[in-house]
Amino acid sequence: MEPSRRPETLVVHVGADPDPATGAIVPPLDLATTFVRNEAYALPSPYLYGRYANPVRDRLEAALAQLEGGATAAAFASGLAAATCALQAVLAPGGHVVLADGVYGGVRSLVQSVFGAWGVHATFVDQGDVAAVRDALRRQPTQLLWLESPSNPMWRLADIAACAAEARAVGARTLVDNTVATPLLQQPLALGADLVLHATTKYVGGHSDVTGGALVLREDGPLAARVRELQKLAGAVPSPFDCWLLLRGLRTLAVRVERQSASALAVAGLLAGLPSVTAVHYPWLAAHPQHALARRQMRAGSGMVSFEVGGGAPAALAVAGRLRLFARATSLGGVESLVEHRKTVEPPDTPTPDGLLRLSIGLEHVEDLCADLRQALAS
Ligand code: PLP
Repeated sequence: MEPSRRPETLVVHVGADPDPATGAIVPPLDLATTFVRNEAYALPSPYLYGRYANPVRDRLEAALAQLEGGATAAAFASGLAAATCALQAVLAPGGHVVLADGVYGGVRSLVQSVFGAWGVHATFVDQGDVAAVRDALRRQPTQLLWLESPSNPMWRLADIAACAAEARAVGARTLVDNTVATPLLQQPLALGADLVLHATTKYVGGHSDVTGGALVLREDGPLAARVRELQKLAGAVPSPFDCWLLLRGLRTLAVRVERQSASALAVAGLLAGLPSVTAVHYPWLAAHPQHALARRQMRAGSGMVSFEVGGGAPAALAVAGRLRLFARATSLGGVESLVEHRKTVEPPDTPTPDGLLRLSIGLEHVEDLCADLRQALAS
């Protein structure tokens, strides 16, 4: 029988072949950093040294590549390590990258502070405006278009197919940060992107207990070879145990994302009807300005919802303070629901509204989440 390509089946079975040595149903955690040679000084396996490659990382990378429909993948010690590798692989000193203006703040700082010092120019653009993306790509020779769809915390989308076509027209690569959508809800490579980035710290891990990142590439060509070279030489690799935890997280990704998206939609609907809420940002709500694009490009709205209250930061912080089930913490994609006042953690020049709270919806019963929000927003 042909193996199923359905993502729900894939996440359970990719990289999960039983251990041939023992029959163990869960592949083993090989912690070794070095691999022995035989008497003829030959290596009996593909492995030489842990940083170059190891069996657990190989399984994770193959699984992520299959899930995103890519040719190959590389795993890193964090999402930002993956981002660093992508920027180094595609750009040369003096190069130009066009980024979504709502890109994750860490990527913005990385591009400006680290890559700026190496002569890289960055242009930030509204990724929802294809004409603006086209203009930015053509203003100077551009090597990379960096999209994050949906982007934090307003959940603005990019029309990935249209933007990737614009990038291709000027010979630039397109990278999509697919951390929030996950490969279950959105397949950027099939829409024309060249690279997909994941902070596997978030939904792939899914339990707020591992930091990681990954790049998935559409083609296994010179760019992939450069990514692997940088992975090996810059050395920001995940430990075998991190890879093992990420593989374990992957097994439940489909059911988690499905439930979190369904609960997030219910929460967004509830918030939209509360008098103390002045705005709700969620792509699966019909009122979202890019709802039609979301329907075309995604399978559900994700587990992330933002909303605004009148009264600015003090009012938003008071609401966060009254929540009992939502933990007040940064990050997203775990089994536990989180609330975050983004303005508190973003740089002072951020366009994020003062009164905005971001929710990462977990796996609690949706009625309990709604009840918590109702009581916190009642007073
Ligand atoms: N991309 C997105 C969308 C993120 O939210 C984050 C972190 O919050 C990152 C990348 C960076 O990931 P990490 O914190 O693992 O470096």
